[in-house]
Amino acid sequence: SSFQALGLAAPILQALDEEGYTTPTPIQAGAIPHLLKGKDLLGLAQTGTGKTAAFALPILNYLLEHPRRAAPRGARVLVLAPTRELVAQIGDNFAAYARHMKFSHAVIFGGVGQNRQVEAMKRGVDVMVAAPGRLLDLVGQGHIDLSTLEIVVLDEADRMLDMGFVHDIRRIVARLPEKRQTLLFSATMPPSIRDLAHSLLKDPETVQV
Ligand code: AMP
Repeated sequence: SSFQALGLAAPILQALDEEGYTTPTPIQAGAIPHLLKGKDLLGLAQTGTGKTAAFALPILNYLLEHPRRAAPRGARVLVLAPTRELVAQIGDNFAAYARHMKFSHAVIFGGVGQNRQVEAMKRGVDVMVAAPGRLLDLVGQGHIDLSTLEIVVLDEADRMLDMGFVHDIRRIVARLPEKRQTLLFSATMPPSIRDLAHSLLKDPETVQV
């Protein structure tokens, strides 16, 4: 099967061609059709399986099909990830796959000054990729508004819980709009992840690789 057969739009297919991606990986082949239909998803996949593209490509396809301006201080899509390295990498992947479409994103993580991140969020962005701690700081200061999100992804959710982000995640989730599409990716499925998935996902599809 090819990316074209999965139903992705031409600007995305062109970027994939330039990236040298010819065949979807198993997590991509399994997840993308559900995500294009707007379903919630529980994805059980390790890093290295192509899971970033498995959520980024259908999200970009959604943005192409539903063009809309982001609200000031808001984002249409939030991707939560545990570390600044992963946040930066996910942001870079989105930018690469979106290179033939109009697209804005911001990366939010600690350990650096917040001014540039605050500035980047002023007008709002299509996709915000964020680590939980800094995101909560900026939300608490009124620099970021989570109420206009349409899609939320928790990436490496088991690692976020292992790193002690469970309370941060709960506080972020409490501010999310009720009507949204939610995706949760995890390499493992301990009871804590099962509970989190149960509380966040509505009638989800499960894809395991
Ligand atoms: P990830 O699991 O998202 O960290 O991706 C692992 C690596 O696989 C990254 O370097 C991606 O650029 C690459 N990759 C993802 N999907 C594909 C694909 N369908 N074909 C070739 N490379 C891919």
